[in-house]
Amino acid sequence: MTTQVKLAASPFHLFALSDGLHAVGIGPAFGQAKAENLIALCGEAARLGIKSVKPALDHSLLFFGNVLACRDLRDFAGNNGFVTFATDPRGHIAACSGSPACNSATIATHEIAAQAAAECGDLLDGSFKLHVTGCPKGCAHPQPAALALCGTADRVSLIAQGKAADEPFAFASFADTNASLRRLADLVRSERRPSENSAACLARIGSDRLAAAATGRS
Ligand code: SF4
Repeated sequence: MTTQVKLAASPFHLFALSDGLHAVGIGPAFGQAKAENLIALCGEAARLGIKSVKPALDHSLLFFGNVLACRDLRDFAGNNGFVTFATDPRGHIAACSGSPACNSATIATHEIAAQAAAECGDLLDGSFKLHVTGCPKGCAHPQPAALALCGTADRVSLIAQGKAADEPFAFASFADTNASLRRLADLVRSERRPSENSAACLARIGSDRLAAAATGRS
């Protein structure tokens, strides 16, 4: 029997509210945006007649207005690098600021995360947050994750079903981090059962086989 992991609710939708009011969820990739991009987004919202905005989960903002304004703002945001759809793999990654922004970081978390989103979209199906962290403190995702990449002094730890500081199942060199993740995505793709999501598949595969795949031994 396949164990299924419930998908979390996503704010990245267009929501119909009452009396013709709509809300659209928009968020910066990996929870961070440059000030000028946020200013441009809010300027466009004002130009479209959006009346209010509220912070929501997953570092998103909910903009409230009529349906056309919300759709146009979503298009503007998407064209300017923001996450606007629940299926965007970037919305399924929790990455801290990493190097060079944080002195404790040993890896460029946002570069690794962006490459992971581009290369491993089917692994990032919304059933879990891939945690990419610059050090074991794990600021971006204090909870356990189905899969985490954690920068250490001399390499990257790969952790399954745990927090950033938990026992790794394997290690990757800095340069091989995304290649290791691609090999894990390949394994999940080949092993996934019908109706099984990535989180459930990762948990079923287990640490030994994940380690063999990540290090290219399988
Ligand atoms: S997890 Fe570590 S590297 Fe990332 S922001 Fe926090 S202290 Fe910095």
